[in-house]
Amino acid sequence: MGDNSSKKIAVLGAGPAGLMAAWRLRQAGFTVTLFEQEAVVGGMCATQRFAGKDGDYRFDYGGHRFITKNPELLAFIDELMGEDLLHAERKSVIRFGGRTYDYPLNLPNLLKTAPLSLMAGAMKDLLLLPFAKKPSDFAKASFAEWIQSHFGRTLYRQFFEGYTGKLWGINPDRLSADWAGQRISLIDLKDVARRLLPRRKGNLSVRTYARKYRYPKYGFGQIFTTLGERLVAEGVELKTSATISRLDRVGDRIERVHWQQDGLEQSEAFDQVISTLPLPLTCQHLGLPCELHYRALRFVNMPLNQENLSDNTWQYLSDPHILATRLQEPRRRSPFMAPAGKTSVMLEVPCNPGDATWQAPLATLRERVSQDLASLGVDTSRLGDETFEARSEYAYPLMDLGYQGRRDAAIQRLMPIGNLIMSGRQGTFRYIFTDTAMEMGLMAADMVIDGVDRRHAIFNHRNENTVIETQSVA
Ligand SMILES: Cc1cc2nc3c(=O)[nH]c(=O)nc-3n(C[C@H](O)[C@H](O)[C@H](O)COP(=O)(O)OP(=O)(O)OC[C@H]3O[C@@H](n4cnc5c(N)ncnc54)[C@H](O)[C@@H]3O)c2cc1C
Repeated sequence: MGDNSSKKIAVLGAGPAGLMAAWRLRQAGFTVTLFEQEAVVGGMCATQRFAGKDGDYRFDYGGHRFITKNPELLAFIDELMGEDLLHAERKSVIRFGGRTYDYPLNLPNLLKTAPLSLMAGAMKDLLLLPFAKKPSDFAKASFAEWIQSHFGRTLYRQFFEGYTGKLWGINPDRLSADWAGQRISLIDLKDVARRLLPRRKGNLSVRTYARKYRYPKYGFGQIFTTLGERLVAEGVELKTSATISRLDRVGDRIERVHWQQDGLEQSEAFDQVISTLPLPLTCQHLGLPCELHYRALRFVNMPLNQENLSDNTWQYLSDPHILATRLQEPRRRSPFMAPAGKTSVMLEVPCNPGDATWQAPLATLRERVSQDLASLGVDTSRLGDETFEARSEYAYPLMDLGYQGRRDAAIQRLMPIGNLIMSGRQGTFRYIFTDTAMEMGLMAADMVIDGVDRRHAIFNHRNENTVIETQSVA
């Protein structure tokens, strides 16, 4: 193991970023302690398992799928999971105003499905698009401005305004255009129109999105529980149910890490700290200010006494009066997500910690989402009487207008601390997919290994204003 074994590294958080950092560091012979507040590893990529009356029901924090353009990462996952990695195909729809549209939007489907008034408005917008006012400074533009300049006012009003408002809990004109720039599968109105044209070989002008993806037999989290087991077998010290409570800073270094486990406060000195904890939380543990916020989600899962609900991976629920933003059927990803002959519905309900939705008793929430399901045409008499739920307090980094400045200020406050490396989706306050979080974890480990400062590179990793999925297709 060479000299590295005398160096003690603390990795905070055992989501994809923390696990990958710990894995690479251990490969290089470092002594690694991995801290995780939950009882299981995986972070937001974990899969929940509930023992129902009819057998086990499983669901992710929002139905994940693995896509990446990084061949080494793909090979790593393939090797790790072997036969347990299934291949699935994505099919998604938008439910709005009693109609069902393809996702992403395309012209043939719009022509077939949309009311005439909507089509007339969208066509007028398309013709006027070249003359429409574009936001001059993308970095300062709002989501509402960006979408209207790409899709026109009609589609914005119909498909984006209400959905975005309920997802983020703020008016889309207070949301940064950054989110639009990286929004999953966001194709502009010209692309919507181009979809009418026959595909020519080499015609790459129509942006595409990932249809095929990898998914493990027992849920997305299986990737990370398998990785966690491998880490422990290779000598990483994994402390679960261990919540980081404080970081002691002396000058430009973190000297000690404090955590709570089994009701006891404990602490230990480390040479280097990699934190994948939310950026504001890491700042708080160091006594530093940070004005960044997250949007939370409650995930409500109910068994359904039938084998399949639909062939959709995701159903985006655009109507503002429907509480949830997405409906999914975990069984669409893998048949092992529900007992044989049964399926389940899973709804993602956005909220803020402490608000009425966050605090609503599960029975009340079930009643409300069941009414919504009935209005969407689901036969709710087939719902089983069990309800399973999970919550994520840090589901989405809230990219409200001006957040870039507040994020930069937080990063600047942390930069003087030479032995602290922030990493991952939460640690860098970025709306990124799993593969990017894993790459960030590897970059953090590389920095410990070769001493080359990669902290700015990690914060900006894959930060291009491009559609995430077009650069991340497996
Ligand atoms: C609804 C939803 C759907 C998504 N779908 C997809 C998808 O289909 N495909 C995809 O690739 N990505 C998807 N993502 C993104 C994916 O979940 C993240 O990119 C990924 O989980 C980021 O990994 P991470 O390690 O950076 O952070 P996390 O997974 O959040 O891990 C951070 C870890 O730190 C731990 N922690 C926090 N505070 C403390 C503390 N004080 N002490 C100890 N431990 C602590 C947490 O418990 C957690 O385990 C989705 C995200 C959401 C919210």
